[in-house]
Amino acid sequence: MIKDIVEKQRKFYLSGATRSHSFRMEALTKLKQALQKNESLLVEAMQTDLNKSESESFLCEIGMVLDELKYHQKHLRAWMKERRIRPSKAQLPGKCFISPEPYGVTLIMAPWNYPVNLCFVPLIGAISAGNTAVLKPSAYARATSSAIAKVITDTFPPEYITVVEGGRQQNTALLEEKFDYIFFTGSPEVGRIVMAAAAKHLTPVTLELGGKSPVIVDETANIRLAAKRIAFGKVVNAGQTCIAPDYLLIHEQVKESFIKEFAKALAEFFPGAKMDPMCTIITPKHYERLKGLMAGEKILLGGKYDDTRRFIEPTLLDGITLASPIMQEEIFGPLLPILTFKELEECINVIRSLPRPLAFYLFSENPQTQRLFLEKISFGGGCINDTIMHFPNPRLPFGGVGNSGIGSYHGRHSFDTFTHYRSVFKQSTRFDMALRYMPYTKEKLKLIRKLLG
Ligand code: NAD
Repeated sequence: MIKDIVEKQRKFYLSGATRSHSFRMEALTKLKQALQKNESLLVEAMQTDLNKSESESFLCEIGMVLDELKYHQKHLRAWMKERRIRPSKAQLPGKCFISPEPYGVTLIMAPWNYPVNLCFVPLIGAISAGNTAVLKPSAYARATSSAIAKVITDTFPPEYITVVEGGRQQNTALLEEKFDYIFFTGSPEVGRIVMAAAAKHLTPVTLELGGKSPVIVDETANIRLAAKRIAFGKVVNAGQTCIAPDYLLIHEQVKESFIKEFAKALAEFFPGAKMDPMCTIITPKHYERLKGLMAGEKILLGGKYDDTRRFIEPTLLDGITLASPIMQEEIFGPLLPILTFKELEECINVIRSLPRPLAFYLFSENPQTQRLFLEKISFGGGCINDTIMHFPNPRLPFGGVGNSGIGSYHGRHSFDTFTHYRSVFKQSTRFDMALRYMPYTKEKLKLIRKLLG
């Protein structure tokens, strides 16, 4: 059945139907209307899967998708244009240009944590660039997966865009097929499986992965804002965010005031300590894993949980070392382990001892410190004096490096990701330069040396 879907999409793609500007614009418009029409369906589904509030669903998911869509509609014509390039001397009197073409049949595999955003934002790129797409939402966000399937089925014919729902069996079957591009968002572990499967067909991939993203607070930082913005990064989606600050490295002098300000920020976010609007943990398996990471650690703040609804309070953990269980894996939950430092060099050593992170956050008022970390640390993207906020901007490429991913997307970068750029040289037939042809005489070589040397 999956074979059939791919074959039908390939046939449709090869018919050339997806290539025109008008077709792509129409598809973007249809998608926009479908999202607007089905907003409450999607919000309810995310509420079911993650207890995601309407505000958070709009702010982090539907609103961002619509913003990305608008940006593509505005710029698509310019992006699709062929670009003239200056010819080299050896090519004269010909012309050079770069000609974008779609890859063809694409596969988009999405995780459960931002199930709408991470399915539709890549899809917008695939549509803009003129591809067909098979979407594979995560089975963990079951309600959202079926809502997405409904939205897509009602909006597009399956030979153009379709959804395959399911778990392991469907994932494996999909990866056996030959796609022309695979866009995967998920864990580094599954990323390796996807890349190995893609390698069999030499299919190019984008891998949007995760990892442990550090946040540093030095002694010059505005502690009130640092605490508030870090708390926000850990509370949104209950910390189940690929770019959530994973662990905190804080200068020992400011640790106590940070803890106080963190508590104040939570009190502001949740008046009367009512945390009902906060997201819950996606599955019992993920919930038990997080409880396991807290067990036996010193809790400075929070630490309560509710088994009936898989809820965990935002929690600060103390006495953490690099050997602690919580430092061995991506946390992906509302727990923030605290490690202290005296010298910035210690932070650099800690971060370099771990795989390259997807995000990096620094809170410091010292421009030299800000520069130091940009020079010394490799990371996908990040913020100075904030967390997460480098994400919502279609003009900034979003992606990882090393263990946190390959490639990037958002806005123009999504169009580029789903596009193959052909280099074309168009030669004149009115004139033929003899220089390149044999026989190579001494005089010709002299001239060539003059031209190229
Ligand atoms: P995951 O890797 O378990 O799953 C991602 C997708 O792959 C899902 O659609 C899932 O059904 C599929 N999948 C799972 N096992 C598979 C297998 N063996 N073969 C083929 N496909 C398989 O990730 P997750 O738990 O859904 O999401 C959490 C991870 O994703 C975290 O590591 C997080 O950091 C990362 N993430 C990254 C980004 C980003 O933009 N870089 C965004 C969100 C999440």
